[in-house]
Amino acid sequence: MSYADLHLHTTCSDGILTPAELVTQAIAKGFSAISITDHDTTSGLDEAFETAATTGLEVIPGLELSTLEGEREIHLLGYYPDRHNRDLQLMLEKIIGARKNRALYMIQKLNDLGCDLSLDRVKEIADSQFIGRPHIARAMLEKGYIKEASEAFSEAYIGRGGRAYVERFKLTPAEGIKLLQQAGAITVLAHPGFLSKGEPVTEAEITALIQAGLRGIEVFYSRHSVAQTAAYYEIATRRNLLITGGSDCHGQQGETNNLGSIKLLYNYVEELKSVRSECLGINLPPL
Ligand code: AMP
Ligand code: ZN
Ligand code: FE
Ligand code: FE
Repeated sequence: MSYADLHLHTTCSDGILTPAELVTQAIAKGFSAISITDHDTTSGLDEAFETAATTGLEVIPGLELSTLEGEREIHLLGYYPDRHNRDLQLMLEKIIGARKNRALYMIQKLNDLGCDLSLDRVKEIADSQFIGRPHIARAMLEKGYIKEASEAFSEAYIGRGGRAYVERFKLTPAEGIKLLQQAGAITVLAHPGFLSKGEPVTEAEITALIQAGLRGIEVFYSRHSVAQTAAYYEIATRRNLLITGGSDCHGQQGETNNLGSIKLLYNYVEELKSVRSECLGINLPPL
C-alpha cells in the first residue's frame, strides 16, 4: 500500500526539522510521497527535491497560507505552485516582511507584561526569514516564563486575541485562492475542523470558498475527530472536491514527532495530479 502526507512544516517556517531531515524520516517511515507545505514560503522545496532525488520518494511542492475572513482564520494549502511565479513570490516577501514587524510588536507587548525577550534572540531561534509565534514561544520557554510552548498560546500571552497578540498581514481567503491559482496551484482547505479560534468550517463557508476557486478539502488531519473526518469526507464527495490529508507535522524537540499519524492513500494523490494536469491542459512528466 502506498501512502502520503501532504502537510508538513520545516525550519524554513516554524518547523523543527530541516527539509532534508523530513525527507529522510518520511522514507524511513515508508511514505511514497510527501508535500512540504511551509507557511508563507516555498524556500524549503529545493532542498527537499535534492534530498529526495535518487530515493524514489515523491516530493510535491506546496505551501500554506493563513487567511482571514473577518474573525475567522482560514488556512489554505496550495499544491504545485510555480515557485518562480513573480506575483506569488512578491506577495510572500510582503507577508514574511510583515511578520518581522508583527514579531517586534508582540515582543514589545510581552516586554510590557514583564517578559524580558528580544527580537534578536527570536530571530536567532527562527534561523530563517520567517518569524512565527512558535519562535516567540520557544524564546519564552528558554527564559522560563512558560513550562511548555503551548502555554504561550493563551489569552495571557500570544494566543489569538491574547494580551500580547498582534494580527498577521491580512489576506482574505478569496485573495489567497486567487494568488495561488494565478501561480498554477491547486487550493485545498486546510484542517477545516481545527480553526485557531471558533467553530469548525461550515458547508456554507465551503460553498463561498468553492466560488472563489477552492478545489479540495484536507479531510484526513491529525487533529480531526472521527466524526469530523466523516463529515468533511461526505461534503468533499458530494461537492466533487479533492480529498487530501496530512499530519501538519512541525517536528518536536527531543520527542517523537507526529509524522506517520496520517497515511493518505496514494489514490488521492493520483486524483490531485489528474486535476493538476486538467488545469494545465496537458499531461505533465513526473517532477
Ligand atoms: P503564526 O502564523 O505566527 O500566528 O503562528 C501559528 C503557528 O503557531 C501554527 O502554525 C502552529 O505551528 C503554532 N500554534 C498555534 N497554536 C498553537 C498552540 N496552541 N500550541 C502550540 N503551537 C501552536
Ligand atoms: Zn506552523
Ligand atoms: Fe494551518
Ligand atoms: Fe500547517
